[in-house]
Amino acid sequence: MAYEYDDQNIFAKILRGDIPNDTVLETDHSLAFNDIAPQAPVHVLVIPRGPYITWDQFSAEASDAEIIDYTRTIQQVIDKLDLAPGAGGQGYRLIVNSGEAAIQEVPHLHTHILSGRRLGRMLP
Ligand code: 5GP
Repeated sequence: MAYEYDDQNIFAKILRGDIPNDTVLETDHSLAFNDIAPQAPVHVLVIPRGPYITWDQFSAEASDAEIIDYTRTIQQVIDKLDLAPGAGGQGYRLIVNSGEAAIQEVPHLHTHILSGRRLGRMLP
């Protein structure tokens, strides 16, 4: 199935600067910002600048430079906020909702980084 990117989605507007965001860090290919409705004391969203909707589309269509940048940006947020358990941080959870069954709300790829409290179990 071909994906059709909606350039009116809220994260596209954030990337264009049409609506403000609380930036954590930005790179050539990615942007990290605080979630407007945080589900934990730390709730950062990391998005690629390119028009990708889901993880599978990004993996298939993004350039190596974009994929490397995106992965490293997620890690830079983890480092910046001192979340890595191996470095004394309390740990974190990464979530990527892709598609209807995952209840993806915004049709632009985003990785949630959650931390700052003990998170409930997600899997039985
Ligand atoms: P999803 O359910 O698609 O995985 O998550 C979408 C996330 O985007 C939600 O956690 C929601 O709070 C967040 N969000 C929706 N609109 C905005 C907005 O305008 N600004 C920011 N910073 N986050 C938003």
